[in-house]
Amino acid sequence: MPAKTGKQYIAGLKDRPREVWIRGERVDDVTSYPGFRNGVNSVAALYDLQHDPKVGKDMTFASPSTGDQVGLSFMVPKSEDDLKRRRQMMANWAWTSCGMMARTPDFLNVGITAWAAASDYFAQDRPEFKQNVLNYHEFLRENDVTLTHTLVNLQRNRSQSVVDNLDNQVALTVMKETDAGIIVKGSRILATLGPISDEIAVYPTRTHLIGKDAWRQAFSFSIPCDTPGLKFLCRESFDNDRSHFDHPLGSRFEEMDAVVFFDDVLVPWERVFLLGDPELCNNYSSNTHALAHTGHQVVTRTVVKTEFMLGLLCRMVETLGSGGIPHVQERVGDVIVYLHTLKACLRAAEADAQMDEWGVMCPSREPLVAARNMFAKTVYPRLAEMVQQIGSSSLMALPAEADFDTPIAPEMEKYMSTETATAKERTRLFHLAWDVACSAFAGRQVLYERFFGGDPVRNAILLYENYDKEPAMQRIRDFLERTD
Ligand SMILES: Cc1cc2nc3c(=O)[nH]c(=O)nc-3n(C[C@H](O)[C@H](O)[C@H](O)COP(=O)(O)OP(=O)(O)OC[C@H]3O[C@@H](n4cnc5c(N)ncnc54)[C@H](O)[C@@H]3O)c2cc1C
Repeated sequence: MPAKTGKQYIAGLKDRPREVWIRGERVDDVTSYPGFRNGVNSVAALYDLQHDPKVGKDMTFASPSTGDQVGLSFMVPKSEDDLKRRRQMMANWAWTSCGMMARTPDFLNVGITAWAAASDYFAQDRPEFKQNVLNYHEFLRENDVTLTHTLVNLQRNRSQSVVDNLDNQVALTVMKETDAGIIVKGSRILATLGPISDEIAVYPTRTHLIGKDAWRQAFSFSIPCDTPGLKFLCRESFDNDRSHFDHPLGSRFEEMDAVVFFDDVLVPWERVFLLGDPELCNNYSSNTHALAHTGHQVVTRTVVKTEFMLGLLCRMVETLGSGGIPHVQERVGDVIVYLHTLKACLRAAEADAQMDEWGVMCPSREPLVAARNMFAKTVYPRLAEMVQQIGSSSLMALPAEADFDTPIAPEMEKYMSTETATAKERTRLFHLAWDVACSAFAGRQVLYERFFGGDPVRNAILLYENYDKEPAMQRIRDFLERTD
């Protein structure tokens, strides 16, 4: 099948109802349920972009199986030009939500594509798993499947190490193997986009390593979201069913996060990719280089989001007439530095890409790790803070769209317009700023950027442990030996 349309995506969700719970209610149809439907429409718009007369051709490539035009994020990159082409495609998708929808399907598509290219990795214990991975990649590509993922087990007690926290039926566990497949039980956090995806991939992450003896929690698999026994428990929606004027981001880009319960769920053998080998599980995102490819998507999106924040801050400054104030200028200057640092990392990752052992042109990992860690720890929380600092009371002097149709509208115009904006223009802009920095949607964005790629502290530990520090230390030894 060629790249799907938005209509086909929505029809697929309707055809396969899944068990989704939110605020005490079970949702019958996620495509029409308030709180989900606008997010569904935004994901549908991504698929429609693949058929756009102007950019559609940049979003797709010819399927190696059928020759049909399929999503470009399923392409195995073979050159630096392929990486640039893929980056442009990912940027086109990211711009549709100004970087606010992070789980556009390209994120996982590039990851699973890396697994397929490295399919021999999966054959090490069980040769049949190699074909499972290859078949799954082809299935995703040819059906343009929307995939979510959940990697982290719920922990009962954070005073223990993650490794010791896997038992008690809280962590997702293989209960038994049958002729049909494995039966799994337990829970996972978090499936962003989970309730509005077609399939869910479940695999381990290097930020929560599996202990040597935890073979029953060591696996990788993927199943349809409507599989019996699979339950999505959602947080409250940040789409409050308000107008785009009042709630410009939340009313469009709710991608929803859900805890996932697995109640004796059957995973068919053909959907199992790794099983019972903690070491293979712990190392596979690094060894297949999936991490570098998902990193390429993440940094592409963070560049888009930072450019959006720069534009927003500059429009706020223009509207408020605060562009002559030195500390306002300093803040905007910092955003420009962030933007170009992130862009430089992205470019370096492509320029230093190398053909890997699996025959894939792999972006250089270090600049991507640097950009990701910097964005999570420093850049994004600071950008949101700057919107608050520059916006100040204008983020609260914020009438609703409906107020412009009342008898006090003339007073609003008189008192709330600025040198460069009518009251309504100002209000529209500051609703956007509020949704970026103050609303529940905004709070979740900061939390997401801090944590979605793993806890920043553990990521820093991983960087310390895995980075080759020796060349830098040798320079110090050499200097201390110098006699001149
Ligand atoms: C908005 C959002 C969306 C997400 N979407 C997804 C998704 O789609 N798929 C997915 O798989 N995951 C997703 N996640 C989960 C994400 O991967 C985890 O939040 C992240 O890995 C951190 O794990 P945790 O939440 O269990 O942190 P916790 O373990 O609860 O850590 C909380 C704090 O305690 C400290 N801490 C706790 N234990 C340790 C330890 N052993 N060593 C060092 N420090 C420790 C940490 O430094 C951290 O500051 C999402 C998270 C958020 C917030």
